[in-house]
Amino acid sequence: MFPKRKRHVPQRSCIICNKKAPKQQLLRLVLDEKGRVLFDERQRILGRGAYVCPAHACVAKLFTKHGDKRLRWAFKGRVRELPQKTIDRILATIESREGGNATDE
Ligand SMILES: [Zn+2]
Repeated sequence: MFPKRKRHVPQRSCIICNKKAPKQQLLRLVLDEKGRVLFDERQRILGRGAYVCPAHACVAKLFTKHGDKRLRWAFKGRVRELPQKTIDRILATIESREGGNATDE
């Protein structure tokens, strides 16, 4: 398959380190209706998203004061909770990407 020639690849910045990368390479976070941060693995959930590098360093920082501040900023203060489950899923995704032979059902 030949990739289409694109002039513009959508870029997003990691909310933790501000590094820019193509959207698809970053991990997307969204809020559910209760203000919980969810991991939008396939980047298909509608609504405002926040992006984070697929790197342990950045994901770990989501739980720091800095991360908390950045999440509140990205979601305009509507964040109520960052569930451990969300982080676990993100870390599992990073690990499967790093492994390089992830099975995608
Ligand atoms: Zn980052």
